[in-house]
Amino acid sequence: MRGIVQGVGFRPFVYNLAQRLNLAGYVLNDSSGLIAELEGAPAAIEAFLQALGSEHPPLAWLQDRAVTSLPPNGDREFRIRPSVAETGKFALISPDIGTCAACLADCTDPGNRRYGYAFTNCTNCGPRYTIIRDIPYDRPHTTMAGFTMCAECRAEYENPADRRFHAQPNACPACGPVLSAETAKSPSLARIDRLKPVPPIAEAQRRLAAGEILAIKGLGGFHLACDARNPAAVARLRARKRRSDKPFAVMVGSLEAARELCMVDDAAARTLSGPRRPIVILPRRRSAGLPDGIAPGNPTLGVMLPYTPLHHLLFRKNTVTGQEACPTALVMTSGNLSEEPIVVDNQDARERLGGVADWFLWHNRDIYMRADDSVVRMFEGNERVMRRSRGYAPETLDVGRDLPELLACGGELKNVFCLTKGTHAILSQHIGDLENYETLVFFEETLANLKKLFRVTPRAVAYDLHPGYLSTKYALELAGLEKIGVQHHHAHIASCMAENGLTGEVIGVAMDGTGYGPDGAIWGGEFLLAGYAGFERRAHLRYVPLAGGDAAVREPWRSALGHVGAAEQLVVSIPEKRLRAVERMIATGTNTVMTSSCGRLFDAVAALTGLRYEVNFEGQAAIELEAIVDPACEERYEFDIAGEELDFRAMMERIVKEAAAPSVVAARFHNTLAAAIHEMCLRMRRETSVGRVCLSGGTFQNMRLLGLVARALRASGFELFLHRRVPPNDGGIALGQAVIAAERMK
Ligand SMILES: [Zn+2]
Ligand SMILES: [Zn+2]
Repeated sequence: MRGIVQGVGFRPFVYNLAQRLNLAGYVLNDSSGLIAELEGAPAAIEAFLQALGSEHPPLAWLQDRAVTSLPPNGDREFRIRPSVAETGKFALISPDIGTCAACLADCTDPGNRRYGYAFTNCTNCGPRYTIIRDIPYDRPHTTMAGFTMCAECRAEYENPADRRFHAQPNACPACGPVLSAETAKSPSLARIDRLKPVPPIAEAQRRLAAGEILAIKGLGGFHLACDARNPAAVARLRARKRRSDKPFAVMVGSLEAARELCMVDDAAARTLSGPRRPIVILPRRRSAGLPDGIAPGNPTLGVMLPYTPLHHLLFRKNTVTGQEACPTALVMTSGNLSEEPIVVDNQDARERLGGVADWFLWHNRDIYMRADDSVVRMFEGNERVMRRSRGYAPETLDVGRDLPELLACGGELKNVFCLTKGTHAILSQHIGDLENYETLVFFEETLANLKKLFRVTPRAVAYDLHPGYLSTKYALELAGLEKIGVQHHHAHIASCMAENGLTGEVIGVAMDGTGYGPDGAIWGGEFLLAGYAGFERRAHLRYVPLAGGDAAVREPWRSALGHVGAAEQLVVSIPEKRLRAVERMIATGTNTVMTSSCGRLFDAVAALTGLRYEVNFEGQAAIELEAIVDPACEERYEFDIAGEELDFRAMMERIVKEAAAPSVVAARFHNTLAAAIHEMCLRMRRETSVGRVCLSGGTFQNMRLLGLVARALRASGFELFLHRRVPPNDGGIALGQAVIAAERMK
């Protein structure tokens, strides 16, 4: 049997089923999945095979099974045999799973031996990917190896009827990991803290209530936490973390508490409380009473529910101390500085987070693989993954055909890489922005780990054509592998195709920030007729000059200048010297590139409405423009299609001339862009007879634009394909690189 069948209670399930049906034989984990040998009445074996498909444990996923007949050997009983490892074989590894209801009940029941125990788990929940060092998935291959089970835990672990049968991280207060605490102020105080009789969770609650910033060790790394309702604490965290405007995620104790902060429909409620426990970006309630510093200028809020017993316990009244001060909402942001990878190690936390946190709440179970919180948005009642990490990775995507073993290195921003094995595309967890050494080290560590876990020996490496990307440089330096360069937006579209199991050709609409074009321009508003084997660029947004490289991304007014020249709106707001300097750069072509970027078009509109002249992270202006749209406004501007170019000059002129209310401009702009995309797809369908459309690229994180485009295309009879589990942004391109490279290797 293959699929996610290890570490999810599959062997006890098989054992119990065999007992029930009076079958003899054995079951074991091997490196590629699960093997069972059965002996008994043919009807019982038939019943067994039926039940296998219909009754399997909640976290298991049975991909396929092979059945062979063997001569009987007279077995009388059914046993669970030790795992065997075989070289070259691999098994799928479960992502980390949020605490199940039964375990939550255990650790909140004063009569239970795990009452108050922060590391309670079972075969249905708990850490997996983040603690696994190698396969087969057995305790010695995890970071639980150093903890010897007590007699009671051992009995559970060995009892096939128990929920904790072969639960590798099984533990209790007598034998498992323990919480401890340390103050960031001085080592001598730290000792006192450790001697204090107050349980660490109660002390953490007290400090959070007092406005302190805590570094809390979680499943895939440290969080920095503070009381989300305390404006001073939130402001202090923002200042110390050097995180200027990026929104903080908030953790609340229950669905009810989430509903007080945000609009939560049924689909969002299911995602929030499901076993993957991502951060869900939801419309924020004005009445929520959270300080604006949580997510400045943002009408949405990223919310998640507790996913470890430690989190659950933080939100509960502590009956040991009788303390009432449990927080109702906590900022839970990645424990890192600026754009560095999330901290996983206690010593590292002391050094790197010591200047941010007042106090550390940590434990002695090591995190082997770091994994940030995943981020999803809801669209048409489904979750759309924007950042794919804890709870999702390293789940593989079955592309339905055998691929050669290869590595796709991904992009620069929001890096994710991809390995292939058999029919599986193995996407890494979110690595981050490959702009510093620490992130590159994280990339390399994760790559080594996934190659080992999945037994991948790449024959080729796929990379983005941008020569400046660290991921590209990394790929080109690998010795002995075939090198396959893939255009950025082709990769976006191929990624959407692969996720949806498409072959043949599609109309690919890639709306994006930046991607390297083979003509030397920066692409980012592309209409491709694409398949895995290649693409034809049928149209794109009109090229405009963009001056200043990276500065152009930080200063949206430069994009506006490229689109409309020195409009009144810019002249009154930008210092004249700077404006003239950039004008000269554009006129002379100095440090200026031509771009068809859709992200920069958003920037230009945001600057002309006065919304944003400068941003602190890429996409900020676009997010704010989406946020202010007047939903009642259905008007739009004119646009032109001239040859290959989609031309928005008429729109930009009207925006400059009319100086309408920003919410109206934002609405008309979204409507215009959607209408133009729709019109271009109609034209491509007339010319090519292709009626399938794939939408990809970072701009389609904009749910308003995605909704407008999707409705228009469906109404015109297009077959529409969107991303679901693979991010539409650069976090998804490695998948596209992999399937394109596989095609080229044929
Ligand atoms: Zn459980
Ligand atoms: Zn124990």
